[in-house]
Amino acid sequence: MTFEYAPAPESRAIVDIKPKYGHFIDGEFLPGKKHFATINPATEEVLSQISLGGLSDVDKAVAAAQKAYTKTWSKLSGKERGKYLYRIARILQERAREFAVLETLDNGKPIRETRDIDIPLVAAHFFYHAGWADKLDYAGLGKSPQPHGVAGQIIPWNFPLLMLAWKVAPALATGNTVVLKPAETTSLTALLFAEVCQQAELPDGVVNIVTGDGSTGAAIVNHPGIHKIAFTGSTEVGKKIARAIAGTNKKATLELGGKGANIVFDDAPLDETVEGIVNGIFFNQGHVCCAGSRLILQEGIADELIEKLKVRMAKIRVGDPLDKNTDLGAINSREQLSKIQELASAGDAEGAERWSPACDLSAKGFWFAPTIFTGVTQAHRIAREEIFGPVLSILSFRTPQEAIEKANNTPFGLSAGVWSEKGSRILWATQQLRAGVVWANTFNKFDPASPFGGYKESGWGREGGKHGLASYLKEGK
Ligand code: NAP
Ligand code: MG
Repeated sequence: MTFEYAPAPESRAIVDIKPKYGHFIDGEFLPGKKHFATINPATEEVLSQISLGGLSDVDKAVAAAQKAYTKTWSKLSGKERGKYLYRIARILQERAREFAVLETLDNGKPIRETRDIDIPLVAAHFFYHAGWADKLDYAGLGKSPQPHGVAGQIIPWNFPLLMLAWKVAPALATGNTVVLKPAETTSLTALLFAEVCQQAELPDGVVNIVTGDGSTGAAIVNHPGIHKIAFTGSTEVGKKIARAIAGTNKKATLELGGKGANIVFDDAPLDETVEGIVNGIFFNQGHVCCAGSRLILQEGIADELIEKLKVRMAKIRVGDPLDKNTDLGAINSREQLSKIQELASAGDAEGAERWSPACDLSAKGFWFAPTIFTGVTQAHRIAREEIFGPVLSILSFRTPQEAIEKANNTPFGLSAGVWSEKGSRILWATQQLRAGVVWANTFNKFDPASPFGGYKESGWGREGGKHGLASYLKEGK
């Protein structure tokens, strides 16, 4: 006998989406001139019209941030700045359900994740950084470290509010003011965050949000009034930013792409490992820079593990992101879906073997079934390029040294995972892996106190923890 899950949809009555949004500049919403639609990727329903920021909007936002920096924010003590951050954190907790529903509607990720992971982590980032605001002199970052001034922050669509929190919380804690641009497809939670800033009575101009597309982002990067850039997104755009700021005095952190290796040794507990693999690649539809998208299995256990993985994958529930039972939601955009389809087809064409469980995918919206490829070699595009979707490439190895060589054979270096019962083997492997984060017998665990960032083409600098604070500060006099 099999049991079916009854639908358990979360109500969307808690969110109030306006038909049109302006930019949030100097504490108020200013109407934009041109607009574009933001949609729910699960249904293609138009949710709202978002303003397309141009040079003059960015100019106004930078001027507001500069004024707020000079007149108010840089004059406040760390303790006073901390109070605002605590206040924002508490309001985010109070309004957590509203944020979770709105994020799910605009992004397509399951409510189970926005409710239990994204939004709690957002609040945790503000609480964590609130605690640092009055202790910066004791952080080991030099005597009385000073803020840079105005930070330009550009974020992607995969964790919209969480990426905002990763950027805004450390900037404010360290005394910088902010001009932030959310991604084109997911501006709504950033605009709701602007309301939280108003509710918290954050001084005007400390946080400014200009919505728009890549040209808006470029206008922020190139603006002479910006002192520090914090970017999360693709390696391609990261390289453009690095070129644009070369020779200027602008500081930058770049959090870019990844192709994380998840290595399973033959002594790993297989059932737990299967859970970790599923979490590593199917969490957030695989739209995760640090996803464990290359599974590297020791040969002796490969067949058994792949069989167990298939049984587990057949239980993944794909569908309505607002349903509390859903594990895998919608792909964020038609464009991203085409990228995933194109790379998966390259996997077929290059001779890897594709497998997905039977899935009933809706005709409306953007969907991709959880997928694995076996028989993958290092030369295949699906082993080298970031797919940024629910697609796992499986390779195998015979000796531990071979596992490390395969894992490190990538232009990226953001994350990796190691599965083994043996502590000494885990310690050995983590020291060999060229990745900013290495998880052992777990995957995709995040904490504001833990620095995050990559090697090589995965970026520059760290976010989170003490290392993350450092990039918002310069040496004091
Ligand atoms: P993306 O195309 O690079 O976009 C990121 C942000 O940059 C968006 O706000 C985008 O605006 C803006 N942008 C586009 N062109 C720009 C330009 N020339 N100058 C300045 N800004 C510009 O990346 P994405 O496709 O949204 O995000 C997926 C990528 O982000 C993946 O590669 C993933 O690995 C990476 N990621 C990395 C991390 C990390 O911490 N390392 C975390 C999450 C995601 P539009 O939205 O309007 O295009
Ligand atoms: Mg959207």
